[in-house]
Amino acid sequence: MTNSLILKSAKELKENEKEIEKFLSSPNKSFWLQHFKVKKYKLPKKKLIWEEFSLVPFIDKSEILKLGLNLRLKDSVNIFKSNPRHFLLQSTSGTSKATAPVLFLKNVDEMIEGEGHRQGKKMLILYQARAIALRDTIAMINRNEGKNDNYQSLVINPFGFTASKIRAVKEFAADSIVTFPACITFLISQFPKSYSLFAQVKHVFLSGDFISTLQLSNSKQALSQKNATIDIDYLTTEADAIGICCKYLRKKYGTNAYHPFKDRLVELIDIDSNGFGEVVVTKLKPIELSILRYKTGDIARGLNTKCNCGKEWTLFLEGRNNMDYIKSLGTLIARAEIERVIKTIPQIVAWRGEVREVKSKKALLGELTLILQLQNHQNLDVLSKKISNSLLLTPKKTLANLVEKKNFMPLKLKLVDKFPPSTKNVPLKKIIN
Ligand SMILES: [Zn+2]
Repeated sequence: MTNSLILKSAKELKENEKEIEKFLSSPNKSFWLQHFKVKKYKLPKKKLIWEEFSLVPFIDKSEILKLGLNLRLKDSVNIFKSNPRHFLLQSTSGTSKATAPVLFLKNVDEMIEGEGHRQGKKMLILYQARAIALRDTIAMINRNEGKNDNYQSLVINPFGFTASKIRAVKEFAADSIVTFPACITFLISQFPKSYSLFAQVKHVFLSGDFISTLQLSNSKQALSQKNATIDIDYLTTEADAIGICCKYLRKKYGTNAYHPFKDRLVELIDIDSNGFGEVVVTKLKPIELSILRYKTGDIARGLNTKCNCGKEWTLFLEGRNNMDYIKSLGTLIARAEIERVIKTIPQIVAWRGEVREVKSKKALLGELTLILQLQNHQNLDVLSKKISNSLLLTPKKTLANLVEKKNFMPLKLKLVDKFPPSTKNVPLKKIIN
C-alpha cells in the first residue's frame, strides 16, 4: 500500500530516466552530494531505477538554507562564467514564516520557460515587484541574443497608473502581457476602460498565487473580449513554473488545476484518505541548478485522466504553505477560501478562525469557529448561513453540505469589538485541546 504518487506516464518516466543518468554522471552536483551526506544516503553511480528513486531523500527550504549558496555557486561556476546575464539571485518571500527568506541562484531563462511565456514579441510586464520585472526583462534581452529577432518589453508598475504610463502603454502596443492576477484586478477596478489599451494583446500570462474564479472571469471580461488567450501557471520560487492550467482544465474545473510540465517530475507524498498529499518537485535542468525531490509545502490531489489537450495528469492545488490551511479529518480549511467568502460580506471588518476537532455522538468531527469584527449589528443566523453555504471545505462540498451529512460541525460565530494589535498575523489556527 503506497501513499505516494508520481504524476507521470510510464513512457514519460522512461524519458526522464535519461535526465537522471545525465545527472548521475555530471561532476557539477556537489550541493546534492553534501545533502546526501547529511542524510546518510548513497547515490548509485550509473543507474537509478524508479523503485530506487523513492529512496532519494527529500529536501525542504530549511535544509536548502542550511546547505547555503556556496556549493551552488561552485557547481555552476563554469556556465556562470560563460554568460552571467543568464543568472540572478532570487529570495523567497518568507510569507509562510517557515524559515527566514532563502536566497536561490536561478537561471533566468529557465524561470520563465512556461509554455505561455513563449508567445508574443512585445511583452508588457505589469509587476509591482521589481525583481520579477527585472527577471522577465533580462529573459527578453537574452532571447534576442545571437538572433535576428526583435523581442521588446515594457515594465510598468500597475499600482499608480498615471497619465504618462497610460501613454507609454498605448504607444508600446503590446501583443502579450505577463502579470499577477491582483495587478489586472487592480487595473480594471481603477480604470474600467483600461482594456482599450490592450486592444492588440493576444496573450495574457498570469502567474503567482491562487487565482479565484471571480478574478479570472473579471480579467477575461476585460481582456479576452479582445481575443486574448489567458494562461495560468503554478510556480514556486524554488522550482520555477511547475505546471500550467490549459483551457480545457479551466473550462472543466475552473482555476487551480494544472498539468505538470514535461521536464518536471511531480510527486504527491503522504496522501491521506481524501487524496490530499504534499507536492514534491524534481527538476533536473540545468543540472548545476537542479532541484531533487523538493517538498513545496503545497497540498494537492492528482488525477490520471487524459485531457483534451493530450496531457495525462492533472494536479489540483488545494492549499499553499503551512500557515494557510488546516487539514482536519478529511477536510481542508484554507485561509484563501475563507477570505474569498468573507470578501463577499462587506460588514465584516476583520476575522480570525479556529479549527477544532470535537467529539460528536458518532465520531470526531471538525469544527470551525469564526471570530468576527463587524461594522454594525448583523443577524448572526443569516450571516452563518451565508458563510456556510459558500465556504468550500473539500473541492466540491461546502460547510453546509458537510453539516447536512453530519461530517462537520455547524459553523460557530463569535463577535469581538476589536482585535488586539499584533505583529504576528495568524488568522487561522488549529486549537488542540
Ligand atoms: Zn489539458
